[in-house]
Amino acid sequence: MSNSKVKCKTCNWQGVDDEIDIVEDPKHDSDTVWQICPECRDAEQFNICCDEPNCWKVATCGSPTLSNVYRHTCDKHIPKDKITTVFEIEINS
Ligand SMILES: [Zn+2]
Ligand SMILES: [Zn+2]
Repeated sequence: MSNSKVKCKTCNWQGVDDEIDIVEDPKHDSDTVWQICPECRDAEQFNICCDEPNCWKVATCGSPTLSNVYRHTCDKHIPKDKITTVFEIEINS
């Protein structure tokens, strides 16, 4: 768990990873856990958001940077010290 910013696709709740409720797989047939929205209780409906302060746009790129930090940002806030390759992450809207 971390402080990555996330947004619920169902109700638009905005928060951080640590605020998401975690439940065990109801079928108990795996170690999988489900991430549940604290607002609408929908499962696994999160988008990662831009990690720039005050920006809640859905992150469209993940960029490794020279400062050795992996950043998720929207297309407007791509880190200036990013390492050339940009990986597109899948967006389900
Ligand atoms: Zn929700
Ligand atoms: Zn942004």
